[in-house]
Amino acid sequence: MTLVYQSTRDENNKVTASQAILQGLATDGGLFTPVALPELTLDFEQLKDASYQEVAKLVLSTFLDDFSEEELDYCIASAYDEKFDTVVIAPVVKLGNQYNLELFHGSTIAFKDMALSILPYLLTTSAKKQGVDNKIVILTATSGDTGKAAMAGFSDVPGTDIIVFYPKDGVSKIQELQMTTQTGANTHVVAIDGNFDDAQTDVKRMFNDADLREKLLAHNAQFSSANSMNIGRLVPQVVYYVYAYAQLVKAGHITNGEKINITVPTGNFGNILAAYYAREIGVPVGKLICASNENKVLTDFFTTGTYDKKRDFKVTTSPSMDILVSSNLERLIFHLVGNSAAKTKALMENLATAGEYTLSDVDQSILDLFEAGYATEEETALEIKRVYEESKYIEDPHTAVASAVYQRYVARTNDLTPTIIASTASPYKFPRVAIEAVTGEDSGDDFTAVQKLHDLSKVAIPSAVNGLETAEVRHTTVVAISDMQQAVETYLGLE
Ligand SMILES: *Cc1c(COP(=O)(O)O)cnc(C)c1O
Repeated sequence: MTLVYQSTRDENNKVTASQAILQGLATDGGLFTPVALPELTLDFEQLKDASYQEVAKLVLSTFLDDFSEEELDYCIASAYDEKFDTVVIAPVVKLGNQYNLELFHGSTIAFKDMALSILPYLLTTSAKKQGVDNKIVILTATSGDTGKAAMAGFSDVPGTDIIVFYPKDGVSKIQELQMTTQTGANTHVVAIDGNFDDAQTDVKRMFNDADLREKLLAHNAQFSSANSMNIGRLVPQVVYYVYAYAQLVKAGHITNGEKINITVPTGNFGNILAAYYAREIGVPVGKLICASNENKVLTDFFTTGTYDKKRDFKVTTSPSMDILVSSNLERLIFHLVGNSAAKTKALMENLATAGEYTLSDVDQSILDLFEAGYATEEETALEIKRVYEESKYIEDPHTAVASAVYQRYVARTNDLTPTIIASTASPYKFPRVAIEAVTGEDSGDDFTAVQKLHDLSKVAIPSAVNGLETAEVRHTTVVAISDMQQAVETYLGLE
């Protein structure tokens, strides 16, 4: 039987996994979502000795069931290789009463690497399966991190090109160097004289420009998107929750079948949704704890049943969670209202027109799985300090948000279920925040902070940061907003 992916906004829009990956978003604006998942009999006595790649194969073959075994082997082997600085890919570290699942051992030392290292292969394989032999061109606007992670994933992947636009004065020195030193003959980085919104707006316009699309097709190329709504990014994230459970069994921290809780620092709701799907296919999960920073729209949603984006946007030290509309939440909403596309569509239209929606008639058994909380900036810094003092381990600010929310949950409920904290970034990605939280003093610039972080934590400086100051700058193009399309046409040889 082939798994059906249905648009969350149209019950007649049903596709297979490879079609969903190739299309990205449904044309009706919905998200392709699995309507019925098989529950596997996960044998953790056996899985505890499986490699990350073997677990990936089990999980991906479940969700991407129109891929052949060879296709999955190719995608998995190409993605989870020495791009990761540890062979276990996603290590679990015990810190006091919590287990930090380190998802930051890939090229850009943050969890987006877990999915973006395999997406390019899933995408090109899906294209082949659908009889599309056009070159896949990824266009992205980035405020720093996602664009870099996408480039690292697509770098030198046959049959692809990637063009990334970033605001010239809107990223940190480290972020800029990470992008401008990117290797790979198919990667193109362009700084624009404008802000992130300008970049985003023109990228969206190019996606929808029919003339440009024709021009691309005439050159055997087509645009595609690497955004987090693509099922090809969501599914690879289920893998590490299955893997982490197996590792906890292996280390003797839990017995096979014992429930665990999972706490996730949440922005777009992709990572925690993957944890929900891990439970659906058979990982014994009790609570899914959704942690937010001061942009606590999800905390309010889970507490009141009303999603209300009409509020001030706060800039925090955990920028990847500074989000007011969590796009992947739409998939959970769809499940909460009984997989009803009509109901989901009505709620999403309300969000677009009135800035809010309120749930009614929901599947309480799904809602009850979720707990939610948020951490203030002060609580986040204090948590980094607390964990350091207790374990000599330094968390990044996103992880610390989750950690703080979890500790408060334990204090409130006394629920001592073993709990995984999704650790989404290396502290080396946010060295100044980490150092200032631990020492209470000014950290100096990024590179000084990196050195201090090394002195305090004794963790080797990852290659994503080490050598950045001296790496060759390969991308120096700066264009006006009005010249973004010209840059695309030049790179792709469309003139
Ligand atoms: C993207 C990101 C998140 C949020 O993940 P979602 O899947 O969007 O909820 C959290 N932490 C870091 C470091 C991230 O890059």
